[in-house]
Amino acid sequence: MDSTQNILLASSGGLQVGSKGVRRSSTLICAPIMAESVDKMLIDMDKAKTLGADLLEIRLDHLKAFNDNVDLKTLIKESPLPTLFTYRPKWEGGQYDGDEKDRLDALRLAMELGADYIDVELQVAHEFIDSIYGKKPEKFKVIVSSHNYQHTPSVEALGNLVARIQATGADIVKIATTAMDITDVARIFHITVHSQVPTIGLVMGERGLISRILCAKFGGYLTFGTLDSGIVSAPGQPTMKDVLHLYNFAQIGPDTKVFGIIGKPVSHSKSPFLYNEGFKSVGFNGVYVHLLVDDIAKFLQTYSSMDFAGFSITIPHKEAALKCCDEVDPVAKSIGAINCIIRRPTDGKLFGFNTDYVGAISAIEDGLTGSHKSGGITGSPLAGRLFVVIGAGGAGKALAYGAKQKGARIAIANRTYDRARELADTIGGDALSLADLDNFHPEEGMILANTTSIGMQPKVDETPISKHALRSYSLVFDAVYTPKMTRLLKDAEASGAIVVSGLEMFIGQAYEQFERFTGLPAPKGLFRKVMDNSS
Ligand code: NAP
Repeated sequence: MDSTQNILLASSGGLQVGSKGVRRSSTLICAPIMAESVDKMLIDMDKAKTLGADLLEIRLDHLKAFNDNVDLKTLIKESPLPTLFTYRPKWEGGQYDGDEKDRLDALRLAMELGADYIDVELQVAHEFIDSIYGKKPEKFKVIVSSHNYQHTPSVEALGNLVARIQATGADIVKIATTAMDITDVARIFHITVHSQVPTIGLVMGERGLISRILCAKFGGYLTFGTLDSGIVSAPGQPTMKDVLHLYNFAQIGPDTKVFGIIGKPVSHSKSPFLYNEGFKSVGFNGVYVHLLVDDIAKFLQTYSSMDFAGFSITIPHKEAALKCCDEVDPVAKSIGAINCIIRRPTDGKLFGFNTDYVGAISAIEDGLTGSHKSGGITGSPLAGRLFVVIGAGGAGKALAYGAKQKGARIAIANRTYDRARELADTIGGDALSLADLDNFHPEEGMILANTTSIGMQPKVDETPISKHALRSYSLVFDAVYTPKMTRLLKDAEASGAIVVSGLEMFIGQAYEQFERFTGLPAPKGLFRKVMDNSS
């Protein structure tokens, strides 16, 4: 641990694992400062401190005009936080394309004027470090960096790279690679966990996001958090706000269990916010991250021994995920899809569940009875009712099986009629095409559940059924929850039907998953508040 980290831990009350709200790891949060003028940099530096940065990376190569002596003095003297100076040349992915000697002279001057760290590229590190031999101030550190914008090499090649960087006399090793797949990040974790010297290991790109969050668990020296979204010094950097408040970075330590939502795409998911708030509120040592996964079997295999303890599963992996499990809950098996995996800590076996329908079915039952208690299998208000499901995908199957289990009669309407037919045949029900839905009214008082993405943001004007056809339904449920009141629900309400939002399904399945992840009761009031605030 170096001086910056000592100061940091002293000011945060020390490194206490397990207590609520206390910093669990010593991994620093560094804000890249990339303004084009010194005045703007000073403003950004104050902003970074307010946002919660520990350290500032001052990117000299972004300055339009640079008077080294005057500007370095000002930046160091006025900095509200420890400083790291980087003057990245174009040949290593930066902006500087001037004279090499001037560049390295400026970094030497930053050291002499009191910078806490400077970053030099591996290619010039030997020469640079030789030139400051015997002149280094005591607290000053040299970071030697290597960037790979193409891919992430093998563990062996990365190990050799670390050795080459160490051999230059670096105080801190920095390796930044590129993720072609989320499993590439595991190799960087392997390096940071086993490295004998302080090491920054980051993987660029959206598939590398977990390297920037879980470095706090796997012993990384620092991560970067940007001041604003989209203004990044390397691809895939999250904002400081997300690092600190969405992923609760300060709460992540070596013993923290990792959870996450597996999907593609996945960055829109609000689940990390919900679970991380929940974990914090009950003092559970876990972090929940976005997992952009291409191949779920490869992902589960790669992270099998790294404390990755449980997952939520979303589009398009719900069916493939089931095949990866050692055991699957019988209801999920008949649905043919899962939305939750737990890894048993004792032997690493994977257990699959489907909690998708639980929240939706009980909210529909509550809607029908007007109460907040759902009935048991025998007493369900769904028993004997005709339950029309629009959609035959993962959510459609889950709703159809859930309603069937409660004694409802089922009809499935789907864009691809064959899929509706197949589901209806397996479950024992009728099949319709989507086009037939408007003229389908065999009886009054039916229940309708939309499980397609029709009406979801941004296409909020779309609806799967015309308003006049809604008169035959006494309750309408929509799995879409962005927006909370979809066009379908507005039309249904205007037709006099009871409406149930997809938010109820989302919150209900989240309660279930939280309890499976933590073994603790879900903070239901908090979940509702978080979702209300974010919708
Ligand atoms: P999925 O397995 O991919 O199934 C999608 C279904 O929607 C299929 O039946 C598909 O019909 C149909 N569909 C898609 N686009 C359509 C369009 N433009 N017109 C007509 N039909 C269309 O997805 P899923 O996991 O079931 O999820 C479906 C929706 O439910 C998503 O919007 C998801 O966000 C939502 N959902 C919500 C919750 C919640 O907690 N509220 C939970 C799970 C899912 P084809 O068979 O013809 O392709």
